[in-house]
Amino acid sequence: MEASIEHSGWASALRAHGRRVTKQRLAVLAAVEAHPHSSADAILSAAREELPDITPQSVYVVLGDLTDLGMLRRFEPPHSPALYETRVGDNHHHAVCSVCGRVEDVDCAVGHAPCLTPSATHGMTIMIADVTYVGVCAECAAQGAPTPAA
Ligand SMILES: [Zn+2]
Ligand SMILES: [Zn+2]
Ligand SMILES: [Zn+2]
Repeated sequence: MEASIEHSGWASALRAHGRRVTKQRLAVLAAVEAHPHSSADAILSAAREELPDITPQSVYVVLGDLTDLGMLRRFEPPHSPALYETRVGDNHHHAVCSVCGRVEDVDCAVGHAPCLTPSATHGMTIMIADVTYVGVCAECAAQGAPTPAA
């Protein structure tokens, strides 16, 4: 069991961030890596396959901590719980299907934030342009979901 969650270099990444390597942290990281764009509840279910006695509380605490450290990215699509992923640091964007909620990664053409220049900053120093594309995925369109008339 230990071998399956030690393989990916998460242990050394945790140490590099000054965190102890715990079974809870490894199970959460493995779960998010295997299921990108998952909610905390889905990560809890996946982490329980590695670590059956992990509690919801410890999953939430680990998710918050690893997000603050920048090891996980938290993303909040409209009308959906926050989702987590291990793909960090490339300022990629997301395309969300408004019918089924499917989330796909969209590479950022610029690759760093902010990749859009606002027409007015109102005196603020802009750090992030949080881009979410909302549409209808091909499967939902094929099943007759209404799409904007072409
Ligand atoms: Zn869809
Ligand atoms: Zn993503
Ligand atoms: Zn971009």
